[in-house]
Amino acid sequence: MARPGTERNERAEYNSLVLREETQQAGGAAKTEADRVWRCAACAAEVARDRHRIPLDGAATRAFVNPDGIEYVIAGFSEAPGCAEVSSPSPYWSWFPGCAWQVSVCRGCSAHLGWRFTGADRFYGLIVGRLTPP
Ligand SMILES: [Zn+2]
Repeated sequence: MARPGTERNERAEYNSLVLREETQQAGGAAKTEADRVWRCAACAAEVARDRHRIPLDGAATRAFVNPDGIEYVIAGFSEAPGCAEVSSPSPYWSWFPGCAWQVSVCRGCSAHLGWRFTGADRFYGLIVGRLTPP
């Protein structure tokens, strides 16, 4: 037999659930994970979704130096539909053993956003400072 008050508690829970759903449908503060996107800092085009972020060698971001001595801090993404590859895969000076890289630019404004790596693994390494986080 149910304890007194149980039904009232269930009703209160139900009401708060409905309220949360209504808030989300109204486009309120409660954004779902799927909506969180990383954008091009230059033109605000959508580059990648936050749920596609992946660790790089176990870290959230990694810093690398290219052959010209320029340091880049990059974040990993398994997919980046807002990127277009503008070079052929090259194994030269690859930061990830077994992976070739291609230069990836913004589909919106052609800004250099990072690199696509393919080979032993497939992912994007995007320059954190050229993106606007969600
Ligand atoms: Zn752009």
